Amino acid sequence: MGPGPSDVNPRILEALGRPTIGHLDPQFVAMMDELKELLRYAFQTRNELTMPVSAPGSAGMESCFVNLLEPGDSVIVCQNGVFGGRMKENVERCGATAIMVEDDWGRAIDANKVEDALKSNPQAKVLAFVHAETSTGAQSDAKTLCALASRYDCLSIVDCVTSLGGTPVLVDDWGADAVYSGTQKCLSCVPGLSPVTFSERAMEVIQSRDSTVQSWFLDLNLVLGYWGGGGKRAYHHTAPINSLYALHEALVILQEEGIENAWQRHRDHHRALRAGFEAMGLTLVVPEAERLPQLNAVSIPDGVDDAAVRGRLLADYHLEIGAGLGAMAGKIWRIGLMGHACSKRNVLLCLGAVDAVLGSMNAAIETGVAVTAALDSYRD
Ligand SMILES: *Cc1c(COP(=O)(O)O)cnc(C)c1O
Repeated sequence: MGPGPSDVNPRILEALGRPTIGHLDPQFVAMMDELKELLRYAFQTRNELTMPVSAPGSAGMESCFVNLLEPGDSVIVCQNGVFGGRMKENVERCGATAIMVEDDWGRAIDANKVEDALKSNPQAKVLAFVHAETSTGAQSDAKTLCALASRYDCLSIVDCVTSLGGTPVLVDDWGADAVYSGTQKCLSCVPGLSPVTFSERAMEVIQSRDSTVQSWFLDLNLVLGYWGGGGKRAYHHTAPINSLYALHEALVILQEEGIENAWQRHRDHHRALRAGFEAMGLTLVVPEAERLPQLNAVSIPDGVDDAAVRGRLLADYHLEIGAGLGAMAGKIWRIGLMGHACSKRNVLLCLGAVDAVLGSMNAAIETGVAVTAALDSYRD
């Protein structure tokens, strides 16, 4: 129950073990087409250019920046946690300028500040932001931010690594231009692939660049020779065949459940987990209206040894929870309820185990009430 990778559904592990066939085998090519259609469902988009990049979420991030940016461009980057800082790194390594809009860690991005930045920087080409900040558990209003971007004639780049499959990601409804995600968070697939989707408008920008894309591997103009539609596919790099079987299975599982049901499941278990922690006397860091259900940032009670608690949970209960990152290290725990791991069993295990470990350390909490509070939440 950390911030990812999440537990992988056994059906996905089984898919991973299927025989490796050629990356131009007609059966494999047919599966690629299905995979793109399944990804369109997960992203809620009709974007033609929707595919997995053959590397983890960070490569999907880099793919968006290197393909859309050229040296000398300006990008407004929102930062309210760790991952916004990585966007800045990407922008600068493309030879572009990052104009930072900073918000407190643990809060959503403030759309008013973003609008001010768009107004005072009419030269900006892109607005980049993280929808679901995994470092804090805060969710930002992607629809409002994407609408602001298009009102001020900017493209939007949106990080949906932690949101996809766990909370609504509505690419077409938002009007987002470039969106990337990962496989190991709420899709509960193995790590190492990054689903991406690009709007028509973004495609036009990519196809009419003056300079070549600085990364040969991530240059979509080349990658599309393999992943693009049409009958003819040419070798670019050897596709990670077995990982793609796994992603296909993960997306079939999502489709079987129904994406709205998956979102609801994340909300229900989050509600029960929160009820348990609050009964214990622990507080959640993010204000209620800005909270992600799949990543719960809980304040560590005063005087409690962060690492000792996580160590005991792992050793005695085989339960992993996440530590705080950056400015929040030692102050919070990050408890994931992602994908296959988002279950009643895990909620009750986590609350029981945290209750027992903190109780044994004489922490200032209410013991013996958390599990009951969660069970009450399920009955409501
Ligand atoms: C996990 C994560 C990433 C990076 O994904 P990797 O697969 O680790 O490269 C990027 N952004 C956010 C918000 C994430 O949670």
